[in-house]
Amino acid sequence: MNRLLLLATGGTIAGCAADSATLNDYTAGVLGGDALLAAVPQLQGLATISVEQVANVDSADLLFEHWRALVDRIRGAFAAAPELAGVVITHGTNTLEETAWLLQLLIDDPRPVVLVGAMRPATALSADGPLNLLQAVQVASSPEARGHGVLVVMDGQIHGAERVTKLATQGVGAFASPDSGPLGWVDDVGVHLAMVSGPRQVPFAGLDLPEQWPQVPIVYGCVEPEPLLLSVCLNAGVAGLVFTGTGAGQLSVGECRVLETWAGPRPLMLRANRCGSGPVHRNPEDERLGLLPAGSLNPQKARVLLLLCLIAGLDRASMADRLIQLELLN
Ligand code: ASP
Repeated sequence: MNRLLLLATGGTIAGCAADSATLNDYTAGVLGGDALLAAVPQLQGLATISVEQVANVDSADLLFEHWRALVDRIRGAFAAAPELAGVVITHGTNTLEETAWLLQLLIDDPRPVVLVGAMRPATALSADGPLNLLQAVQVASSPEARGHGVLVVMDGQIHGAERVTKLATQGVGAFASPDSGPLGWVDDVGVHLAMVSGPRQVPFAGLDLPEQWPQVPIVYGCVEPEPLLLSVCLNAGVAGLVFTGTGAGQLSVGECRVLETWAGPRPLMLRANRCGSGPVHRNPEDERLGLLPAGSLNPQKARVLLLLCLIAGLDRASMADRLIQLELLN
């Protein structure tokens, strides 16, 4: 039988409410990973799973130190155990895509790392966590999942870390991969995922994560934006900044002026968009303002990439190279 490692971090999948009809008023991150496995006896026939509790929090409260612990643990487990088939991570859905993308950029191993969560607490009528967990284990144990990088399994769909996002606050089908769709599906018949040939790009494979991470705020564009927000970030000396522009990542005249007239050290900056799908391309103004387009990355994933670029000590030109390497920019 396949050997898997389950790293539990909390979330609604481990959440409890006062009664089974309560779907919104619950506490996330209550049950441990052992209890999640115990709720799905069918797993015993699928894989031998060892459990480690990395955190037990609502994913809004996840910290960089949890990310560091996850990365260290996954790298260590893959290095120490050639017989390990893959890793499953239980996670709150609100920031699951950020963790998935972080791991995609850092973990260089063909064995699958699969993130899974739930939209309903474990105590709910028709809780989605148990089936999602069963399906995540199916995917993590399957040969088809090898080489795909970090995957997200929710509601029978298998998504890639780069595109997947949470698109709805309610409902078990809250995840999607805009522009591309899911990579595949999983059901009781099996894992329906095309085999991958060849290695993938892991631009930060050797990067060690520090205890102290840089500050990277996200500023959001809108009608008559408050340019003060950008100024506050620049004056605070942030190391990086993601600008969530309107449309294809556009800044207002006022915001451009703040960047143009800024005389201090320029943070590393990415320009994402607030549309939910579609790319942000290069713009003639980018060079002058010190910006780079984030391609198809949503703002929260652009921030993850920017954090790693800063930790790696990259400047704007080398960050552009990484974006090109990841085919986010041409
Ligand atoms: N509050 C939850 C979280 O930890 C939401 C969820 O898991 O669905 O992100």
